[in-house]
Amino acid sequence: MSAPGALRPRPRPEIEALPRYSKAAGLEQVRWRASSNESTVAPSAAILEAVNLAASHSHLYPSLFGDTLIARLSDRLGVGDDQVLVGAGSLALLQQVLTAYTGPGTEVVYPWRSYEAYPILIGIAGASGVPVALDSQHRHNLSAMAAAVTPQTRAVLVCNPNNPTGSEFSTAEFVSFARSIPGDVLILLDEAYREFATSDVDGVDLLRAFPNIVVFRTFSKAYGLAGLRAGYAITNPAIAADLSSAAPPFGLSAVAEAAACAALTDPAHTDSIVETVTAGRAHLREQLAVRGVESVPSGANFVWIPLGERASALEAACVAQGVSVRMFPGEGVRVTVGERAAEDTVIAAVDALAHNL
Ligand SMILES: *Cc1c(COP(=O)(O)O)cnc(C)c1O
Repeated sequence: MSAPGALRPRPRPEIEALPRYSKAAGLEQVRWRASSNESTVAPSAAILEAVNLAASHSHLYPSLFGDTLIARLSDRLGVGDDQVLVGAGSLALLQQVLTAYTGPGTEVVYPWRSYEAYPILIGIAGASGVPVALDSQHRHNLSAMAAAVTPQTRAVLVCNPNNPTGSEFSTAEFVSFARSIPGDVLILLDEAYREFATSDVDGVDLLRAFPNIVVFRTFSKAYGLAGLRAGYAITNPAIAADLSSAAPPFGLSAVAEAAACAALTDPAHTDSIVETVTAGRAHLREQLAVRGVESVPSGANFVWIPLGERASALEAACVAQGVSVRMFPGEGVRVTVGERAAEDTVIAAVDALAHNL
C-alpha cells in the first residue's frame, strides 16, 4: 500500500500553473481601504429597500437568466434583449466567454500590466495568454496588440480605462485597432470603469460597426454594489446566443438583480459616486504633483503612481499611516479614491518618505 496522501486527485496542468490573486498588505490593521477600487458611498435607501424586498422572497429561484435586469438594460442601452447577458459580476461573464470561445491550443492577447484576473481566467480556460506590454505612457499599445494576433488567436482583451493605470484610449485609436483585427477574432472590451472615464469610448456604439466585440460592464464600481455581484455583457445576438448556451442557470441572485434594477433607477446615487471619485482623483493627483511625484492621468476610481522600485516603500508607509493600497512590486502603487481622509493619508505617507521617494 502506498503512503497515505501519496496519491491525490490532480487538476489539469493549466490549473496547477495558475498565478494567484495577490492581496493588499495590512488590510486587517488599516483604517481606510484604498486597495480594491470599491465605492466609498454606501447603498442608497432605495437600493436597500429593493434588497430587503427581494430577500423576503429568498425561498424562490430567480429567473433563469436575469430577465428583468436584461429588459431594463437593453431598454436603457437601445439594444435588443437578445444582446445582453447578466451574471454574478462581469468577471463571471468574461470567464463564460473565454470558456466558450477559447481553450487548449488557442491564444488570447491581453495588455500588461492590466487586471490581474486576466491571465488567471485565460489559464482556467486552458488557452495561452499573450501579454503585450503597455507603452511608455502606461497606455495600451494597440498596434503591438494587433501585431500579436496569430492564426491561433481567438480573442483580444482590452481594458478601458485600464486597471491599474487608469489610462484610456480614444474612439479613433480603438476604431483603427478594431479594423486591424480579423472578423473571427473576438474583441473583449472591459468597461468596468466607464462611468468615471474622461474619454468618449462607448463599447455599445462600437458594437454596431464591429460585431465581433463583447462589452463588459459592472455594478461593482460606479453603482457601488461590489458585494452583491452583478455585471453585464453586451454583444451581437449570435454571440449572445452562444454565450447563453454556455451560461450557468440562475447565475444572478434575485437580491443582486433587484439591487441592480434599483441602482439603474437611482441616478442620483451613481452621480454622487462619480462626483466623489472625480473630485478625489483630481485632489490626489494635484497633491502628488505639488510634491513632485508623478501619477498617471486616470479615467477610473483610482490613481496609478508609477514608482518602480520605490513602490514597496510607499505601500509600507501607507499601511503605517493607516490606509491600504494596491502595490505591484517594481512597478507602482494604485490608490482607490473617493474618501478624502484616505487620499490625505496617502499624501501623509508620501511626506513621511519625503526625499526617499
Ligand atoms: C473591478 C473590475 C471588474 C469588475 O468585476 P466584477 O466581477 O463585475 O466585480 C472587471 N474588470 C476590471 C478591470 C475591474 O477592475
